[in-house]
This record gives sequence, C-alpha cells and structure tokens, in this order.
Amino acid sequence: MISELKLGKRAIYGRSLAGIFTSLHIPWLDCLLDIGFAPRRATGVAHLFLSHAHLDHLGGLPSFLGMRGLGGSRRLLKLYHPEEVTVDLKAALDAFSKVHRWPLEVDLQPMAPGDELSLRRDLKVRAFRTLHPVPSLGYLFFNEVNKLKPELQGQPSEKIRSARLAGHDIFDVSARLELAYATDTRAEVLERHPEIGQAKTLIMECSFLDERKPVKSALDGGHVHLDRLLPYAELIQSEALVLMHFSQIYRPTEIPKLLQARLPPGLAARTHPLLPEGGRWWA
Ligand SMILES: [Zn+2]
Ligand SMILES: [Zn+2]
Repeated sequence: MISELKLGKRAIYGRSLAGIFTSLHIPWLDCLLDIGFAPRRATGVAHLFLSHAHLDHLGGLPSFLGMRGLGGSRRLLKLYHPEEVTVDLKAALDAFSKVHRWPLEVDLQPMAPGDELSLRRDLKVRAFRTLHPVPSLGYLFFNEVNKLKPELQGQPSEKIRSARLAGHDIFDVSARLELAYATDTRAEVLERHPEIGQAKTLIMECSFLDERKPVKSALDGGHVHLDRLLPYAELIQSEALVLMHFSQIYRPTEIPKLLQARLPPGLAARTHPLLPEGGRWWA
C-alpha cells in the first residue's frame, strides 16, 4: 500500500523499507525516485531517478515499463542513473524485452557526480555522490531565479530599463533548492554536500535508529544509523526532513517515538518519517 505524506500543499507518495523496496512519486517534479516496486499511480511520469542498482531500488522497473505499455504511454521514460551501470542496465532491459516478447524501451540518461541538466524551463537537477558500496548517486532539484543586482535594487524603473537596453547584465542568478534525495548512503554525505541540508525538502534514508543495529555494521553496509546522523543535525536546515528506508527490525509504530526522543527538538518538529498507513509493514 502506498502512503501519502503531506508537506504543506505538496505531497509525496510512496513506500520504503530497507532491503525490500523503495519508490517515491513526486508529482510536482513529474518524477519517481527509485523503482523498487512498480507504483501504478505514477505510470505517466516523465522522469525516473535511480539512486543505485540494488534491487530494492530497481527491481520494479520491468513491471513498471510493462504497465506503461499497457496504459499506452507514448512518452519514453527518461531513466537517470549512475553511469557505471548503463551497460548492464541496458543488457537487463534487453533480456526482459526478449522474455516479455515486447520491447521495454527507456531513454537511458547516464549521470556522473556534478552533472547538471534542465528538466524543464524552471527546474534543474544536479547529481552528487552518495556513500554506498556500489556506484550510487543522490539528486538535488532546484530552480534558478533571476534577482535584480544589489546595486539596481530600489532604483527608479527608468534607470533599470536603460541599463537593460544598454546591454548590461541586470540580474544575478541564484538557485532555490527545492528537494534533495540521498539514499542509500552513510550520513557523512551531509558534510560532503552541505547544500542538500539547505534544500526545502530533504529526503534521506535512516535505516537504523538505535543499538539494535551496531553502528559499525550500518557503516559497513553504507547506511545511515541515527547515531551517525545526529552529529550532522545542525546542517539540516530544510523545512521538511523526510526519513525513510527504515529497517524492518523496527515496528512502524515505534519509529516516530524513537525519532522524537532522539532528534534535537527543532529538527524533530520538521521530521516526517515515511511509514505505512495502518501501522504495519505488511498489510
Ligand atoms: Zn536500499
Ligand atoms: Zn543499497
């Protein structure tokens, strides 16, 4: 069952459980983040961003493409992914196309850390390196906004107009960081890419929450343990921190209490765990 997480006027739809499945539908970005299962409500999206090729993030792709075909979608899905997996991803899709006896076509878009591209006129995305044992990327979505240069602010409109007509650059371009997605990764990603903590919404994994999982083993697996997230808490200035990819060693009902008890109060108030409705991992 898909959960709905309301963040002001916007909502995120999805489900996520470490090692089992993760896929999030972000309607205002017209995208899916990962495809660990095939969410039927999102079959029309334009973009799919793959964090890495572990199957709890990728395994739903063939059935998702099958459903798109069934729905008659003519748009080729753009699949952004770490460039290291392009060849194998293509081979896997070719093999599924053969057994399915129907071409499962996507527009493969290899990405490297630092790569930046436009998704539409007002929206860009930049890939950044996450810290996991296999090739992995996070994604930062942002708008570029033109701001009048400081020396022109408050000036008469006639002066601004003549500066523009004289061919002067009258704007500074600044980025409004909308959403960052970081999974699967160790928590140090916040230190290496502090800009993600400035995004309006930060979606991060937090697989492990207490001593039931030794910190060392979480680090070895390339996952966030809350003990290791806490030292970076002040780097998270986001209006909303969405935590997900919890391990099933925790019951969904105890997770909000654990987070409230352990996170600094200012951050706890902005934190939204992505949990199944009904309080059980399995319906
Ligand atoms: Zn995972
Ligand atoms: Zn993984």
